[in-house]
Amino acid sequence: MKDHLQIKDWGFGIEGHVIIAGPCSAETPEQIEKVCLDMKKENMVPDMFRAGIWKPRTRPGSFEGIGEEGLKWMEIVRHHLNIPITTEVGNAAHVELALKHKVDVLWVGARTTVNPFAVQEIADALKGVDIPVMIKNPMNPDLQLWIGALERMHAVGINKLAAIHRGFSDSYDKRFRNKPNWSMPIHLKREWKGMEVINDPSHIVGNREGILETAQRAINFGLDGLMIETHHDPDNAWSDAKQQVTPKRLKEILSLIDFKDTLGSENPGERLNDLRSAVDHLDDQLLDILQERFSLIDQIGAYKREHHLTVFQSDRWKFVMESRTQKGVQKNLSEKFMKELLYCIHEESVKRQEKQLREADAVKK
Ligand code: PEP
Ligand code: MN
Repeated sequence: MKDHLQIKDWGFGIEGHVIIAGPCSAETPEQIEKVCLDMKKENMVPDMFRAGIWKPRTRPGSFEGIGEEGLKWMEIVRHHLNIPITTEVGNAAHVELALKHKVDVLWVGARTTVNPFAVQEIADALKGVDIPVMIKNPMNPDLQLWIGALERMHAVGINKLAAIHRGFSDSYDKRFRNKPNWSMPIHLKREWKGMEVINDPSHIVGNREGILETAQRAINFGLDGLMIETHHDPDNAWSDAKQQVTPKRLKEILSLIDFKDTLGSENPGERLNDLRSAVDHLDDQLLDILQERFSLIDQIGAYKREHHLTVFQSDRWKFVMESRTQKGVQKNLSEKFMKELLYCIHEESVKRQEKQLREADAVKK
């Protein structure tokens, strides 16, 4: 798609999976210093230090960030860790102050990405500035909004870009604070070649316990790094206390993660090649079978039309769903997968038959 520079080319010497850590919010100079010293003590210096200066809170009255004062404390981070610093900007005034205090990397938060006016305001404030920008996914699972925010930055000349997957608001699934959608980053990478996506398990899970599992899944899905909220005294953090981990625990989490390489296309190995060509062959067969199945569906459609039958026949559909799901489960395919697959096939069948009907009606007229 569009040319952009990947994290390794942002000029910070970062290689491999990028690790971003630091507190949800900057609270006091002592807090910033303690986090840094604990990171140093644990020999757990991340690639980038994060700290929220302006906090988008759901309701007013809770801690809304320390503001410009906190940007001055970033000198403490530079002094102890000498790593790039990143913070969230939500409007043009934030951008101006972050640039004034030499923040190295900016990120746009989930609540801002949903609003093209706000994103454009930030982009306009960044015109002519050479600074990397990371875009968190919007609160709702809308890939176009996410890409749109990246495009708005790109259009004003920001070419150091990355995305952050922090999950999506979902009031039904209580396992997550923000439910991950692993296909979304994959679609994003498909639509914008080379776009790196960092995972933020802290905001996805919302507690300390689940961070390792979600971070590992992210790496398994080929994501390019992790942003993990880290505090020297998480229980007493001024925001997101439940989900922050200590530098010690961060080190442990990172040591337990199996950082797989994305499959090198250069030399995947003979065994893998054999397995892949077997899969290619089966996929060809699968497509032939689908083609055949839809041709039968078209013939059924013609019959229904001739006999003035509705396209959707609920008893038949119920039977297809139940019998196939049962067979699939016996073949070790999950019930959820079977249902999704059958819905997908059925929807396409109904669409084809409706199209047939429309075309036949058009000929009649
Ligand atoms: C954060 O990173 O602290 C934050 C507020 O994130 P999000 O925009 O993902 O909610
Ligand atoms: Mn937070």
